[in-house]
Parts: sequence; structure tokens; C-alpha cells
Amino acid sequence: LAARSSRPDGTVVRVGPVEIGAKQPVIIAGPCTVENRDQLLRIAEAVRDAGASMLRGGAFKPRTSPYSFQGLGERGLELLAEAREETGLPIVTEVLDTEQVELVARYADMLQIGSRNMMNFALLRKVAATGKPVLLKRGFAATIEEWLLAAEYLLAGGNDQVVLCERGVRSFEPATRFMLDLNAVPLVRQLSHLPIIVDPSHGTGLRELVPPMSFAAIAAGAHGIIVEVHTSPEAALVDGRQSIDPTTLASIVRRVRMLRDMV
Ligand code: PEP
Ligand code: MN
Repeated sequence: LAARSSRPDGTVVRVGPVEIGAKQPVIIAGPCTVENRDQLLRIAEAVRDAGASMLRGGAFKPRTSPYSFQGLGERGLELLAEAREETGLPIVTEVLDTEQVELVARYADMLQIGSRNMMNFALLRKVAATGKPVLLKRGFAATIEEWLLAAEYLLAGGNDQVVLCERGVRSFEPATRFMLDLNAVPLVRQLSHLPIIVDPSHGTGLRELVPPMSFAAIAAGAHGIIVEVHTSPEAALVDGRQSIDPTTLASIVRRVRMLRDMV
């Protein structure tokens, strides 16, 4: 079902008024993690003003250490909904567990399946059944074929509103957090009709690399990018090193629009 041949013209995924997979590249931006009301509303307004068309933010966080901040949970979802009311931006947020699917689906416009859960087949099935648009991140040790088969679970579950997200894979290189696999972009566009976006924040781990890899993603044919933005990146509770400020986002948005007319 995910194969390009089953839908040669490609799929457009609709999240409220936003179309992913159409001509215009989509910019999704926001904090890694919802920290508090003031932080989220401030960032949401800043990314809207910078030209983003959707808001991201984690309420349930998949942290490597059980002692790290795990997110605000349902309170974070309430704040995301408030930020949507304030800005008009649809929201995408991660659902970590089958038991949270109904709760997260009540608040979110799009459900994110994180890298660590790409092969959580029970979660894929349950998320598919909500009928909500899904952002399926690539597992950081998953092949492209495994990733497309994970998407197949969603499609086979009756949900074709699936956006793939390349977010970097594990490599031997310690200088960056992950290795952003931009080969995947043109390859997935050949193999599948599903839209594909790129996450240059997790894919690099370094904010200086986010603008150039955003442009590279669009040049490679990505239908959009998802970027971590914070008004005080140094003070961010999670992933500050890879978070850019709203001014940098505004310059990325301007140049992405220029690039889109070239590719
Ligand atoms: C995120 O988007 O905040 C996130 C945890 O991403 P990933 O699942 O790609 O690590
Ligand atoms: Mn993050």
C-alpha cells in the first residue's frame, strides 16, 4: 500500500488547513518539550510570526535516562491545545505508548511516532485506528525498507494520512548526534507515494548545522522540515544544543521558499 505504484501522483496529507506533500514545503517548528505555559505560548507565537505553519512540542518524552525530565504529560497537551487556540497553528506531538493513544488523540491534530517506537507494532495499529494524521519518524537503526513496512502497518490499518520523517541514523561519527540520511529523501520519493519531511535538529544535534541541512533537505526534495526552536535555547530543558532561535527560523523560512522555486 505504501508503494509509489499504488498511487503514482503521490499523497497529500491534510492537517487542518495545512497540506503536506503538496507543492509548498511545510515548516513545522516549536520546542523539543513543553516546559510551561509561558515558554510554550511565547515560542508558539514566535514560530508563527517566523512563518511556520504547524507547531511541534513534546508532552510525553522518550528520554534515554529515567531520571531526566519526562515531560508535562496531560498538562503539556492542554498547553499545546491552548497554543493552537492562540496561534491557529495545528499541533503535532508524540504518543509514546498504546495506553496514551486516546488521550493524545483528543488534543493533537497529528500524532507523532518517535524514532524509538517506529517498530512498536501495537502502537502503530492503535494510532492508525484513530484516523488522525501520523508523523512516522524513522528508527535510528532502521533501514528504509523497515521504515516503509512500519508505514505499511498504518496504511493496512486503514489510515493513509501518513507523513514519513527522516531524523538521522546511528553512525560511527561522534561529532554529530546522528547522521542525517538525505539519501533517504529522493529514494523514498521513488519508492513510496507518502510525503517525506526531514528533522535537521535531531539529525545533527548542533544548531549551527540546522540551517544548511534544512536547505539541503528541501534541495533533495523533502516536502518540509520539522525544527526545534526555543526563545532561550541555552535554557531549554531538553535538546537546547540543537535548538535554534526564532530569528534563525525566520531566515530558514525565507530561504526555503526561495529554494522551492528552484527545485
Ligand atoms: C522529538 O521529535 O522530540 C523526538 C524525540 O524525536 P526522535 O523520536 O526522532 O528522537
Ligand atoms: Mn528533541
